[in-house]
Amino acid sequence: MARGPSCSGVEIAVHIINGRAKAAQIEEVTHTRVEALKLRGVEPALAVILAGDDPASQVYVRRKIASCARTGIRSIEYRLAASAGEEEVLDLVDRLNRDGAIHGILVQLPLPPVISANRVMDAIRPDKDVDGFHPVNVGRLSTGGRGLVPCTPLGIMKLLDGLITDYRGLDAVVIGKSNIVGKPVAMLLLEREATVTITHIETRDLPAIVRRADIVVAAAGAPGLVRGDWVKPGAVVIDVGITRVDVPDGRTRLIGDCRIDEMDHARAVTPVPGGVGPMTIACLLANTLTAAERAADG
Ligand code: NAD
Repeated sequence: MARGPSCSGVEIAVHIINGRAKAAQIEEVTHTRVEALKLRGVEPALAVILAGDDPASQVYVRRKIASCARTGIRSIEYRLAASAGEEEVLDLVDRLNRDGAIHGILVQLPLPPVISANRVMDAIRPDKDVDGFHPVNVGRLSTGGRGLVPCTPLGIMKLLDGLITDYRGLDAVVIGKSNIVGKPVAMLLLEREATVTITHIETRDLPAIVRRADIVVAAAGAPGLVRGDWVKPGAVVIDVGITRVDVPDGRTRLIGDCRIDEMDHARAVTPVPGGVGPMTIACLLANTLTAAERAADG
């Protein structure tokens, strides 16, 4: 908890949301549910496909696999060479789609440039699409149906739900309109009956739009974009952005989209790192478990 004066001069305690602690709680619940499912003879399993040798992707895949181990989910990693063609990836997806012992399929992005990510995503069975990127899951999200929800937006909502019980009529501003963060998180906020504005690089007078928001979700990948004087006193600020920048001693640092050091007047903010990031992996595991439970229930 840090304290600071609001614009009206009243002291407001800004709460730094601890994404690591919340993610650990979710993993604990997942672990308990995994054990329960194993007692029914089902071992939840996630297949992770990594094509190419992108170093960041290798780190992400390693983390996902380590998290699976913590919760008792079986993970199987498929490494394809950078020269792998689309047919090879599609054949593997097809095999995993038909394998009853596999409940979730994750294709680590980006794929090598010769492979169409859309074609690969479309080939994954929607009920095994634990990233929630398949058009069927995108459609279910926008019609309020029972699909699989993309992990980062799901994690954001779990953080917000810890603070907000009634979203009705609240103004929510989402910065960024990507398919993996901006659009799905906007749909989830809309589902809870917030009044949602989606903004992007071409939006005019972004500060004025952000100033009326009760909830700000920044997913632009523009370090330090959202300044303290853009944020209304008492707003909740979720910083999704992660940009790796070089620092003088030859190391790198992760920087978010929001200057939370200027936001003592906010109600709550997420730090980078340690805010949304850990929630994404926790929600991937939760989605894998959900897929396995649904398969077991028939
Ligand atoms: P993207 O590049 O696909 O989309 C960025 C969006 O932000 C676009 O709609 C663009 O119009 C908008 N934008 C960019 N600069 C802007 C500006 N100056 N003003 C207003 N809008 C602007 O990015 P993405 O995949 O949605 O990711 C966004 C950020 O979130 C990145 O930093 C990414 O690393 C991070 N991210 C984090 C997690 C996590 O787990 N924490 C997961 C996914 C993405």
